[in-house]
Amino acid sequence: MTEFPLKEFASIKTPFYYYDKKLLVATLDAIKKASPEAEYHVHYAIKANANPEILKYICEAGFGVDCVSEGEIRAALNAGFPASGIVFAGVGKSDSEIDFALDNDIACFNVESLPELQLIEEMAADKSKIANVALRVNPDIDAHTHHYITTGLEENKFGIDLKMLDEAIAYCAKQPSLRLIGLHFHIGSQILTLEPFKVLCDRINQLVDKYKDQGIHFESINVGGGLGVDYDNPDANPIPDFKSYFDIFRTNLKLEQGMQLHFELGRSIVAQCGSLITKVLYVKEGLKKKFVIVDAGMTDLIRPALYQAHHKIQNLTSKYTENGVYDVVGPICESSDCFGTDETLPITQRGDLLAIRSAGAYGEIMASQYNCRALPGSVFN
Ligand SMILES: *Cc1c(COP(=O)(O)O)cnc(C)c1O
Repeated sequence: MTEFPLKEFASIKTPFYYYDKKLLVATLDAIKKASPEAEYHVHYAIKANANPEILKYICEAGFGVDCVSEGEIRAALNAGFPASGIVFAGVGKSDSEIDFALDNDIACFNVESLPELQLIEEMAADKSKIANVALRVNPDIDAHTHHYITTGLEENKFGIDLKMLDEAIAYCAKQPSLRLIGLHFHIGSQILTLEPFKVLCDRINQLVDKYKDQGIHFESINVGGGLGVDYDNPDANPIPDFKSYFDIFRTNLKLEQGMQLHFELGRSIVAQCGSLITKVLYVKEGLKKKFVIVDAGMTDLIRPALYQAHHKIQNLTSKYTENGVYDVVGPICESSDCFGTDETLPITQRGDLLAIRSAGAYGEIMASQYNCRALPGSVFN
């Protein structure tokens, strides 16, 4: 359970992110323990959180990285990840990003369209290089998550449609500067039941069998990320159930001899170790509501405004045992700048410190300077 060093917090400018290193390391250990197979490889989806200190621990744990921009590749290289552990995904890789990735000999491009495949081929040929590619397949699977974070449906912009896969594979086979190493999938994020992953396994088995019959063998299958975390009970479930997650693939995915299995976990690695610490500026009594106005806003943590996400809110300093009911809102000039409505908290007053929990993923990295605000700092235990 994350403990908050309140004495130390008293001298730190709010709002800031507080990261529980012990929990991060315990989470990384749990992943390693749950996936001991030599052919299982976990790549951290760095877009969830690229704080250099966080990256240091993930790098030390021996994980690879899943990047979606040149900036992320640079952040990974700076943190010490070897290029041979970096995969590069994204629907809109620019020419200069592909150039940079080729020059740095990253492990693999996860390619999302035919025109992208052609561009990578041309650029690799110009450099007399061979680019490793995996084709990102849109498997048309409903991950039953928020529609903004489902990615594997036919209507989503991600991946190559199943019907166009034959053409993409045939293209790779003809091009000496492309080496097709496998297929890539990612069906969405914050997935809380394991059923969609089972459906994904079935879909992958069908595809692998189909191509095997045509004499095409893949070296690697990448199943993406998406495992969810318990935003309601971060203390009861600080570490996601990685054992059950990996078991789903163990049980349902038919790995051919020598085939490598790659995972790209983001949220499930870093969400629970981070909290946004914010100070109460005012408690404002409305006619029907009481508002707790805090100094953190959607610029520091945008998930509630962007995805209607809810994070558990905890008053760290209230001396009261009686509760009040509050809307907890930020200072930004947007009505969506609200962390929670009708939150039951111990009586809350100006100066109290609140922790907005489970904010380690898609929190600090999505911070903006809207309203000309300063970016939040970060503190580690
Ligand atoms: C975002 C993303 C991930 C990580 O998703 P999580 O839900 O954070 O685990 C993995 N792979 C790809 C291609 C992604 O875009």
